[in-house]
Amino acid sequence: MFNKTEISEQNNQHEQLKIREKIEIVLRKLQTLKNESSELISQCQELKKLRSEHKGKVCSKCGYAIESGHEITFRDSAGTQTCYYHKECFEQLLIS
Ligand SMILES: [Zn+2]
Repeated sequence: MFNKTEISEQNNQHEQLKIREKIEIVLRKLQTLKNESSELISQCQELKKLRSEHKGKVCSKCGYAIESGHEITFRDSAGTQTCYYHKECFEQLLIS
């Protein structure tokens, strides 16, 4: 027959095992989340890159995207591309 302390020790061991299992499950979930978040971060960076590439082709007057090859590019004195215009929008700017 078990005496009381033996039973409570066994219970303790059982509890500890349960806790360890729970911790392992949580750790595994964390690892999965980590993987997912790093995947999301790289996807975000790709989107940002795409956006910044696309951003360069937006008309500074009307705000709509410009098909590549149809833009009028305005450069500052340093020679870096600063803004783009539709040909029609640029003409309107010249007229106004
Ligand atoms: Zn425009």
